[in-house]
This record gives sequence, C-alpha cells and structure tokens, in this order.
Amino acid sequence: MDTIGFDHHDHAACKSGGIETVERYCAAHGLNLTPVRRRVLEILLEEHRALGAYEILDRLREEGHGSQPPVAYRALDFLTKHGFAHKIERLNAFTACSHPGEAHAPVILFCRVCEAVAEGVADPHRGNLERVAAETGFRIERTVTEAEGVCSNCQRNGPA
Ligand SMILES: [Zn+2]
Ligand SMILES: [Zn+2]
Ligand SMILES: [Zn+2]
Repeated sequence: MDTIGFDHHDHAACKSGGIETVERYCAAHGLNLTPVRRRVLEILLEEHRALGAYEILDRLREEGHGSQPPVAYRALDFLTKHGFAHKIERLNAFTACSHPGEAHAPVILFCRVCEAVAEGVADPHRGNLERVAAETGFRIERTVTEAEGVCSNCQRNGPA
C-alpha cells in the first residue's frame, strides 16, 4: 500500500500530475471537464485536506465562477462519480483522489490533529467486506474505507 499525503513530497508535481491525469482520462472517455469542474479539482488538489462543499463554493464565488450551491455540488458530483475525488462521509467533506482514473478501493486516513488526509488503496480481493459480499452474491460497485487517527508527523511532534 502506498500512502501519500502525510509525508514530504514534491507537491507541485503531485498537483499538476493529478490535473493532467484527469484531463487525459476525460479526453479518452469523452467526459466534459468544464472550467468549473477543473477548478474544483484544482482547489481539492491544493492541499491534502478535506474540504466541505461550502468552502469550495466560497472559493468559486470569490473567483467569479458563480455563487449558487448547485454549481459546486454538480462539480463535486461529477468528480466523485468518476473517482477523481472522494467524499469523506464522516467529515461531510471531499478530497482529491490520489489514484485518479484507476479502479480502486480507497482507504482514506485522516489526522484529527493536523487535518491532513492521505489515501491508500486496499486490495479489493482481500477484505472482509468483499468476502461478505461474495457470500451473499452481492456485487460491490464502490467502497470507501475511512479511518480517523493521528498521522506520523503529529505523533513525532508529541502527544496530542
Ligand atoms: Zn501532494
Ligand atoms: Zn482514490
Ligand atoms: Zn497530523
């Protein structure tokens, strides 16, 4: 499992790589990455954090992309539906996907101290959920596993 988001990395490359991957995926699959959808993805990619829809809407409004909540919600719907972003139910917030365009079962780890979010990938054939689903003949289309805790940086910085 590779986890990014808690460790130091070249975030500029991480950000531009995320946008490029999604652009290529949309072009290849005939998806319309409108300016607002692209902008919302960029906002999510700025930091490895979770953002609520209203924070995103505020940013869009400041930038003149329109101030109606449906603008942000529709863009977020598009991004989550195609796996370019994930919704963290627990926080009612969104984060950019670290593996856009790949079929994967995301594991979202969020730090309650610094609010950093990292995404790892679970082996889709090895989990309990998949075993239970297989036993009942259920076909899983999407799972998001969420875990809250303290990241390694915050653990190093003393007790939280
Ligand atoms: Zn990054
Ligand atoms: Zn993902
Ligand atoms: Zn932390």
